[in-house]
Amino acid sequence: MAPEHLRRPPQAPPVFTATAQSIIEDAKRLVATSRKVQDDVVANVTPESASFASVLKPLAQDENVMALESHILGFYQAVSTEQQLRDASSKAEELMDEFFIEAAMREDVFKLVDAVLQKNESIDPESRRLLEKEHKDYIRNGLGLPAGPKRDRFKEIKKRLSQISIEFQKNLNEENEGIWFTREELDGVPEDVLSGLKKGEGENDGKLWLTFKYPDLFPTMKYAKNPETRKKVMIQNENKCNQNVPLFRESIILRDEAARLLGYPNHAAFRIEDKMAKTPDTVNTFLGDLRSRLTAGGQKEIKELLEFKKTDFEARGESFDGRYYLWDHRFYDRLMLEKNFSLDQQLIAEYFPLQTTIAGMLKIFEELFGLVFVEITGEDRQQVAPTGKGSDIVWHEDVQIFGVWNDEGEGSGFVGYLYLDLFPRPGKYGHAANFNLQPGFIDANGNRHYPATALVCNFTKPTPKKPSLLKHEEVVTLFHELGHGIHDLVAQTTYSRFHGTNTVRDFVEAPSQMLENWCWTPSQLKSLSKHYSTLSPEYLSGWQEQAEGKAPPAEQIPDEVIANLIRTKHVNDALFNLRQLHFGIFDMTVHQPADHEAIQKLPISATYNKLRHEITQMDGPEALNMGEEWGHGEATFGHLIGGYDAGYYGYLSSQVYSTDMFYTVFKADPMNPTEGRRYRHQVLEKGGSQDEMTTLTEFLGRPPKTDAFYKDLGLA
Ligand SMILES: [Zn+2]
Repeated sequence: MAPEHLRRPPQAPPVFTATAQSIIEDAKRLVATSRKVQDDVVANVTPESASFASVLKPLAQDENVMALESHILGFYQAVSTEQQLRDASSKAEELMDEFFIEAAMREDVFKLVDAVLQKNESIDPESRRLLEKEHKDYIRNGLGLPAGPKRDRFKEIKKRLSQISIEFQKNLNEENEGIWFTREELDGVPEDVLSGLKKGEGENDGKLWLTFKYPDLFPTMKYAKNPETRKKVMIQNENKCNQNVPLFRESIILRDEAARLLGYPNHAAFRIEDKMAKTPDTVNTFLGDLRSRLTAGGQKEIKELLEFKKTDFEARGESFDGRYYLWDHRFYDRLMLEKNFSLDQQLIAEYFPLQTTIAGMLKIFEELFGLVFVEITGEDRQQVAPTGKGSDIVWHEDVQIFGVWNDEGEGSGFVGYLYLDLFPRPGKYGHAANFNLQPGFIDANGNRHYPATALVCNFTKPTPKKPSLLKHEEVVTLFHELGHGIHDLVAQTTYSRFHGTNTVRDFVEAPSQMLENWCWTPSQLKSLSKHYSTLSPEYLSGWQEQAEGKAPPAEQIPDEVIANLIRTKHVNDALFNLRQLHFGIFDMTVHQPADHEAIQKLPISATYNKLRHEITQMDGPEALNMGEEWGHGEATFGHLIGGYDAGYYGYLSSQVYSTDMFYTVFKADPMNPTEGRRYRHQVLEKGGSQDEMTTLTEFLGRPPKTDAFYKDLGLA
């Protein structure tokens, strides 16, 4: 058990005791309070008397305090098991968004902010950045437009876009489609997946209900031997949320209209001007260059995969049509890795039970960044809960909570709270992501408010005989998301606006992407591993039951298994990156039409499918005469509605920064504590409080370069 002083954080964690009614009331109260702060500033300050302290400071403090509640009010829609609570949470977010739109268009406040900017007071750099961003935001929110019909229309569009975004995500969260399959149709899918599927009754007697949640979807696409099954799953998955199709279209058209109202040539130009890339041209050039470098590699990979498919079909006595389909890829990619590289993902997963892997990852962060993680359980939950009730400090019984501290070398102070919500359940957000629950900032009395951050994931649930086991790619995902969580925890900004992952979108992935490299480093993999059979007698007997008399496994993952795994890092990598490019290029295509008419006429689903075929070079259902509208992938593409619009490219371009940082600073010794702490303080701690290019350049000792990125991809 942790020492006493690490069990009593100086700041109580938030509570999750909301009701549907309280969520709405709280949102209304927050809005009213915030509106009053703005009204008071306007009432008490004139352009002549306006200063940073009299205008920006109260607004920023209100923003800080509001975020302590507003993020959580919106969070329930992603994690609550109660429909009513989720609905209220969506509604609350809508109310708050409407208010933000209204506030962002207040001309009376803008005049004061403008007056402060003109005065050019001497203020600290983070405050100056806040002032400049705030000023620019008003212009970007339509206050550069003359009052009247144009500005009103702009505001109307903003409101509608906010509603769409909430509805779109809600539809995705609540999507509960699936397909009834016979066991025969699912032949090849691992037994522990099948045993978790709902069993049919009546007309579906003997069948299993396969959902589109990750723990069902991916193993099926990888292991189901029957191509018809995979095809059916893939096509249905691209049609699982078609109520989002019109919402997506409406969004794209409205964004284009709004950007043109403001005088931008298109939405991409509007979105990218304040990012690291600055212009769509930079992005188009980067994506185009990457595409041309990857295309030949992709062709070569498909050729080899086709050989595999041919052999497989011949062995099964089926006729081979010479095509490589979208639903073939995960299956033959997996088969190739197993056959050519003796890579057994299931075997590797046995060495990565979820709980010991998490403990190992936290230990890496402890050593690298000088942190201490203390899980808060049992009695301690009651002790730290402001209500005295331990269950109030989590939103579901599955959730783990940690108090995070600095180690002695870093001053022993409190850092914040980390939550892990790891398993799927109905109505829960379906991917893996990090959510900020409370930002950090300096409060009105000059004290630091500590952040709270949550990982929401969907790993396979444990059973009595087997813990939740992570595939290597899930190990990578977990480390990636934890990376966002750490960024969110160790940031030390004055204003919540710049806290943690509140950086520009084309930088925000870089820290997490850099950390993924640890999951490809033999020493780190070894230390993270622990075979599940060594964890308990129950697990051991569970393992023995299916081990068919094999000798007991080593406790840690054997070196040759690691070596094999690492040899596969770049196998079929061109195809993987071409898939990312498809997302990025589709995003840029729908957000930079030649003119407004062009976007109104654009067949969005067909464009999505066509680009996918052209870029990945794999055949889709269109090759089987199913037309170009066979699926509606855009309707499940939450990123483009949830804030990554004209920003998906950032996943690729930030890899330029992440590989540069890794190769330059960490590759030689990923656990170097001096470099780890330097990284923590020079990069993570800054959040978005200074220009991200400055942050990078200071850390690297020079501006970033693309060399390591292309070299790592084998494209140099
Ligand atoms: Zn990420």
